Amino acid sequence: MKLFLLAICSLVCLFLHAQTSRSQRNIFIITTDGFRWQEVFQGADSLLIRDTVLVKDTGLICQKFWHADPEERRRKLLPFFWEVIAKKGRLSGNRAYGNEVNIANLYKISYPGYNEILTGYADTRFIPNLTVRNKNTNILEYMNSREGYAGKVAAFSSWSVMPYILNEKRSEIAVNSGYEMLDEGEDTLNRLINQVQRTVPMKGHTRYDLLTYASAKNYIETKHPKVLFLGLGETDEFAHQGRYDQYLQKAHQVDQMIAELWYYVQTDPFYKDNTTFIITTDHGRGSKTAKWSKHGFWVKGSGEVWTALIGPGIAPDGERKEKEKMYAKQIASTVSLLADEHFKADDHSVAKPLQVTRTVVIPEIIQTKILAVGNK
Ligand SMILES: [Zn+2]
Repeated sequence: MKLFLLAICSLVCLFLHAQTSRSQRNIFIITTDGFRWQEVFQGADSLLIRDTVLVKDTGLICQKFWHADPEERRRKLLPFFWEVIAKKGRLSGNRAYGNEVNIANLYKISYPGYNEILTGYADTRFIPNLTVRNKNTNILEYMNSREGYAGKVAAFSSWSVMPYILNEKRSEIAVNSGYEMLDEGEDTLNRLINQVQRTVPMKGHTRYDLLTYASAKNYIETKHPKVLFLGLGETDEFAHQGRYDQYLQKAHQVDQMIAELWYYVQTDPFYKDNTTFIITTDHGRGSKTAKWSKHGFWVKGSGEVWTALIGPGIAPDGERKEKEKMYAKQIASTVSLLADEHFKADDHSVAKPLQVTRTVVIPEIIQTKILAVGNK
């Protein structure tokens, strides 16, 4: 009997240890700009997908992304989210269940959105989407100052304003954004990506997500950063253009890229079982059919977002259906918590972390036996 109780005690201790041990964990923060919770949880919108102004070939897009059953429909759009994250991670923000993830800043545009996610602070000062150097300390520069993480933090983004939001000059984080060239050296893949970047005609403020992804992936494979920010932008670009077909296809592509990246980390000895993904968006969009392409202070729905988390430290409880209220500003301290650090900034307050680990419930019968053993 004593042996049996000892075995149970050891198992419980091991379990508790697995729940709390988080030393030197790797964390990837991935964002896709202005992608709505409605599509994450309900799949393609029934009215928008059949609108011939928004979708060039409604027949083909419906074949790809439509299904009468909303659960099948969302799986068609985001297979990795619903086949893997929904089983091994957690998805928050389905407002149909009162599960809310909100943007706390007033403005509901990109600069304030990324500032909120990365600094843990919903700044009341209005910073437009311009190349203004951010005064607020962010989680990436904080992590870059921690032992074991210093020099192992990198950021890649499609949007060219990101180096200003991250204040690359002050923070000294490796940031590659927009059509910025990559360091070539002996790296043949970076040379190839640079060649492609040079040939892109009429470069806008947002680089093709595939190029951003390829650049980040090559960096991950060759340099093994421990904290990575990957900011994708085409979902927002096409939404603003009123192209619902492209908005869906880009979201589907983001899901594929995340799936490929997850497969890579889970088959790489450096990252395997020690890397957590935090996936989210910087703002929502209009919830009304006529307003889906817009966002901002005046557009209802713009403050409604979502999060998808997977990896060690994250309770694998799938789609959250409990009434909850979370904020994007809680992500920064969640990153530090997962890394066993405590993000603080001298220049602003930092919101508390999201509750991401499962509360350990030890059955009463085992608790009584542990007490009994302990009292002997
Ligand atoms: Zn945005």
